Amino acid sequence: QPINRLTVPNGTLLMTSLQSFDSLLKDIHKKDAPYKLALLRAKASFSGLWVYREDHTEVRILGALAKIAPAFLTLDGVGEAIREMEWGSDLKVESAKKAHGRLETREVTMTEGNAEIPYSFEMPKWWEMREGVTIPAIPVGKPKESGKGYVPERNPYFKKFTTRTMRPVIDFDTCVKCTLCWIQCPDSCFDVMPDGTYDANMEACCGCGVCEAVCPVEHCITMVNESVFDDNASQWEMWRKDKGGYKTWMTSKIGDKNATVRSHGFRFRGQYEKELETNLDAGGVEITAGIPGENAQHKTV
Ligand code: SF4
Ligand code: SF4
Repeated sequence: QPINRLTVPNGTLLMTSLQSFDSLLKDIHKKDAPYKLALLRAKASFSGLWVYREDHTEVRILGALAKIAPAFLTLDGVGEAIREMEWGSDLKVESAKKAHGRLETREVTMTEGNAEIPYSFEMPKWWEMREGVTIPAIPVGKPKESGKGYVPERNPYFKKFTTRTMRPVIDFDTCVKCTLCWIQCPDSCFDVMPDGTYDANMEACCGCGVCEAVCPVEHCITMVNESVFDDNASQWEMWRKDKGGYKTWMTSKIGDKNATVRSHGFRFRGQYEKELETNLDAGGVEITAGIPGENAQHKTV
């Protein structure tokens, strides 16, 4: 970070997002030279370091690149390359062409963007590092409120939330304390609260969506786009302090259909084809109901 750090003067930064240019420029840091912002309308495709949805983002990026730098890459060349690939298909070629046609571009001046100084930290010097490669075990965590709860120890330097495109929002009133989110979270994000519920620690969460997928209670965990949050404050502390206020906050976050989204892959074969029919890449509605056991419409305890 910042996302435009490597963008050269008058170069192009290509992004996939459903947000407007102005809204994105509230977060993108200012540059000391003008550049172009190219926007492909799409919901987040990656979250965390490993969650991948086969939603044609890679071929759509290739189609967009052919528009940005035609001397470097032609649209016909992109189509041929996609067809040659083991994973290629005519539908993917079609997606690349659509992206080429729909790419929006806007000039960004030196006065635009977020004026905040980017987050930085001092890197350890080579002489400060230990010899050899050893990975120490995670130390034991700390009890919370006289042992009624528990907070696991976490790496103080690896801030996984910086890769997050969405986060879980939890309804503590409907949680049945089944422990599944706590056990299944690949990053040990959940702190055990004194009342037996689980609070996802927002400094540690990478937004993979596994907790939402395993939670057996309908709408108890909902993945919401990261852009609608301003901080990493504890949801459980907010809920404990003011249950009515939390409900209002939570409802406003999970009620926005543009901001709620699953990050954990597709639910059934052919889902992307169905989503194409709804013009998802132009802001259409995502198909989210499907497999029982996930956060489908008829999920019950
Ligand atoms: S809290 Fe949920 S979304 Fe965050 S890393 Fe854990 S399982 Fe993934
Ligand atoms: S999976 Fe859902 S119901 Fe189970 S403890 Fe987590 S939030 Fe509560």
